[in-house]
Amino acid sequence: MDAQGDTRPLEGAAFGEVADEIIDTLRRWVDEVVVPESSALELADEYPSAMAAQMEDFGLFGATIPESHGGLDLDHVTYARVIEELSRGWMSLAGIVNSHLICAKLISRFGTDDQRDRSLPPMATGKLRGCFSLSEPDSGSDAGALRCRAVRDGDEFVINGTKMWVTNGERAGIVALLARVPEGDPSGSSGITCFLVDKTPGKHSGGITVSRKIDKIGYRGLETVEMSYVDHRVPADRVLGGDGLTDAASRSDGDGGGDGAGHGGGIGNGLRWALAALELGRINVAARGVGVAQAAYDAAVAYAKQREAFGKPIAKHQAIAFKIAEMATKLHAARLMTYDAARKADAGERVDLAAGMAKLFASETAAELSLDAMRIHGGNGFSTEYPVERYYRDAPLMIIGEGTSEIQKLVISRALLADD
Ligand SMILES: Cc1cc2nc3c(=O)[nH]c(=O)nc-3n(C[C@H](O)[C@H](O)[C@H](O)COP(=O)(O)OP(=O)(O)OC[C@H]3O[C@@H](n4cnc5c(N)ncnc54)[C@H](O)[C@@H]3O)c2cc1C
Repeated sequence: MDAQGDTRPLEGAAFGEVADEIIDTLRRWVDEVVVPESSALELADEYPSAMAAQMEDFGLFGATIPESHGGLDLDHVTYARVIEELSRGWMSLAGIVNSHLICAKLISRFGTDDQRDRSLPPMATGKLRGCFSLSEPDSGSDAGALRCRAVRDGDEFVINGTKMWVTNGERAGIVALLARVPEGDPSGSSGITCFLVDKTPGKHSGGITVSRKIDKIGYRGLETVEMSYVDHRVPADRVLGGDGLTDAASRSDGDGGGDGAGHGGGIGNGLRWALAALELGRINVAARGVGVAQAAYDAAVAYAKQREAFGKPIAKHQAIAFKIAEMATKLHAARLMTYDAARKADAGERVDLAAGMAKLFASETAAELSLDAMRIHGGNGFSTEYPVERYYRDAPLMIIGEGTSEIQKLVISRALLADD
């Protein structure tokens, strides 16, 4: 695409050389391997083992893990660009790393030194896979209503409950699990707490069972599962940030620089910390939206130039040309908003507003553009022989996951209307 028509106009100017090299390598791999192979894997709902292995080689499982623990420690802007490239090829690839990196973010930012030293190095290589488990059958947006319980028994907690929508749950060896510690805990604190639950990858591990794999209309190839916990025992030192009794001394500030656990260690801080880590998730989902929207736009332009109707390429019909102009404009705006949120996160600013806006706009843009691309493809858009049908099935997830569009509007309006 020439400079005039380039929908990525910031490239070559605003980013560092190292970041551009990473993106160039990834872009080549996406074009040469992911684009040709992903539709068949997706339709078969087959896990992309070879692609995941290549992502391990690229170091992507450690993308945002600090270098001190073996990760790449990418800044948020570069991370957003990585996710955008992966999603341009196949959105599920971004899902393979996202909940893993949310789990790692929780550990690096709020974990004790022991927790960081133990879990982050194998997570950075991808040998240990993480997942994030907040949602339940009866609570999603209203996360504070979760029911999963963790009751202390000596040096352990006994977990009971059912978790829903756990992406990467079966393959994971560590779960960032949100559960409620009841009143009366000897730490003097209670409430929703994050546990680092170690498990053996697979369907059963101790009292944990992957009770069902959810069949999805899109975002296929990687597993999203229901997980049941029946009297599953977790050592107290696996409370994220410490349990306030046994290991408070081993905690030091993580990469967030001092969101102290306070009395009770991490007990009762789980939801607040999870919501903070989800800001990374929202930038990830916004970047996924940009990637899918880019793929839809590219497919629409290519098709509109070669498909003829009424004696000329359909791109020469003004209705189609205007549609492409609108698509490019929305795509450009979504990208700028996503990079803006990422830049603010890099500058250490609060990003609930910027990440919420970017996630809202980019995910809705992906949904709109995937339908636009399908319209431009006519009947072929409805066929599995063209990838636009996959974009159309993948895009709606982004208006649901990491907080629905309605919840983003709540977050945005609260930030805008907060009393001084
Ligand atoms: C494929 C997939 C993968 C997922 N992966 C994970 C994962 O790895 N880990 C995890 O913990 N969760 C995961 N989720 C769960 C996801 O985060 C939730 O689905 C999402 O937060 C919405 O919750 P819900 O499905 O319970 O919908 P509900 O909360 O029941 O919402 C239903 C509708 O009501 C609206 N609504 C709710 N409250 C309000 C309000 N106050 N004002 C206005 N409207 C409102 C919502 O916007 C939505 O339109 C995944 C979901 C999907 C589909």
